[in-house]
Amino acid sequence: MDYGPAPESASEVTAWLQARGRFGHFIDGSFTEAGETFVSENPATGEALAQITQGTTKDIEVAVKAARKAAPKWAGLSGHERAKYLYAIARHLQKRARFLAVLETLDNGKPIRESRDIDIPLAIRHFYHHAGWAELVAEEFPNHAPHGVCGQIIPWNFPLLMLAWKVAPALAAGNTVVLKPAEFTSLTALAFAEICAEIGLPNGVVNIVTGDGATGAALVDAEVDKIAFTGSTEVGRIIRRATAGTGKALTLELGGKSPFIVFPDADLDAAVEGVVDAIWFNQGQVCCAGSRILVSEAVAQEFTARLTARLGKLRVGDPLDKCTDMGAIVHPTQLARIRDLVAQGEAAGATLIQPETQLPAKGSFFAPGLLTGAEPANPASVEEIFGPVATLTTFRTPSEAVQLANTTRYGLSASIWSENVTLAMDIAAQVKAGVVWINCTNQFDAAAGFGGMRESGFGREGGREGMLAYLKVPEPKRKPETKAT
Ligand code: NAD
Repeated sequence: MDYGPAPESASEVTAWLQARGRFGHFIDGSFTEAGETFVSENPATGEALAQITQGTTKDIEVAVKAARKAAPKWAGLSGHERAKYLYAIARHLQKRARFLAVLETLDNGKPIRESRDIDIPLAIRHFYHHAGWAELVAEEFPNHAPHGVCGQIIPWNFPLLMLAWKVAPALAAGNTVVLKPAEFTSLTALAFAEICAEIGLPNGVVNIVTGDGATGAALVDAEVDKIAFTGSTEVGRIIRRATAGTGKALTLELGGKSPFIVFPDADLDAAVEGVVDAIWFNQGQVCCAGSRILVSEAVAQEFTARLTARLGKLRVGDPLDKCTDMGAIVHPTQLARIRDLVAQGEAAGATLIQPETQLPAKGSFFAPGLLTGAEPANPASVEEIFGPVATLTTFRTPSEAVQLANTTRYGLSASIWSENVTLAMDIAAQVKAGVVWINCTNQFDAAAGFGGMRESGFGREGGREGMLAYLKVPEPKRKPETKAT
């Protein structure tokens, strides 16, 4: 894949930000004047990046109206026509991949290696994949129709990727959208809006309204046909209540507290690298992070020793440095939440293993860690920390591993490590999780449905199930009533 020229520095992005300064919403194919704004900061420095408009109920209404007006024509295009637009978006994202990677890293704090090699390529792949679905949808789902206008609300941990997960299938299925990015990370969504305009996407098919939770709540209450939400279980619960009885379709992708199970016959070095990807990837701000490490007593000492040694080698620092393993936490409020939960974990009897790491003087940083000796009722075992700290607990038997794995109100993902595939498959069937990985973790593909069960939500994104989530069985056409003569 051609990712375009590598910028020598963030100067291209800085020039882009300076040229725009204050961002309005993207409604009906163009940007509105900026209204009342808030500041989007670079979490690695605390410096202001841009002024973002706080979306009002009125802004949401205007955006929904534009999406409503565009809906019949967009749904009426042939699948092939819609596919051409999705391919064009994918190609433009690809052309601007380096730029988008730097912008994402500046806005979110994630290491450039991750935004360059994971977030942006996966977002591109999502559009290519769903261009294929646009071609196939009428044939594969002849008895289905798009919902109409979809309201989409996304979190800040994978800003452009979460947008791609929402927008690509919605458009492929023939829906129009109003998307609200998370308030900490609106910038790649706004760059995406420019791409929609550049490729000549019909006006009103994609609308982006920035703002905080109040803007999201206004979108939930607006005249939309479906709400697709990714975020915390707490907000998911509010949205479920708000949409109950309204006839709006709903999918919820929520939080997790996923088990990472290491059996005695596992390849321990591979499992140690697995933990790096499971909990120290994206500073642990991952819904399916392997945040509860469950390790067999037989290998616990050896595993913990190797893991602690690896932990000490992680490089925390400037997210734009290609050698950085862990960047900044997205926002000071998130940093405070992590600190608080880790302190609660220690107060409830757990021990924090954390290397002596020189953290940058400015910005929101938290050294990676492990909490050992956390009982199942310890807040650190129960609550989603959403930071670079996992609990580490031991088990004796496979059934105890399953019992501990399922001791959670969530059910998003699980990761199982064993050289015995029969055992791993057997455990996979017993763990209550929407996604189970064996001898790997955090693997995603546009063709594979991703989603949770229990308090991790319902519905799937990606693959065939993901397409179905943006389609409905249409109401039967009734014959006009004939008057009795
Ligand atoms: P959050 O729930 O605070 O916010 C998510 C989005 O909802 C933001 O855009 C926010 O502005 C908006 N919002 C807040 N209050 C709202 C309301 N009352 N009505 C409508 N919208 C509202 O979550 P977050 O802190 O941005 O993200 C972290 C959470 O997201 C974690 O719990 C994580 O596990 C979850 N997540 C889940 C998945 C998944 O696929 N299951 C993926 C990524 C993140």
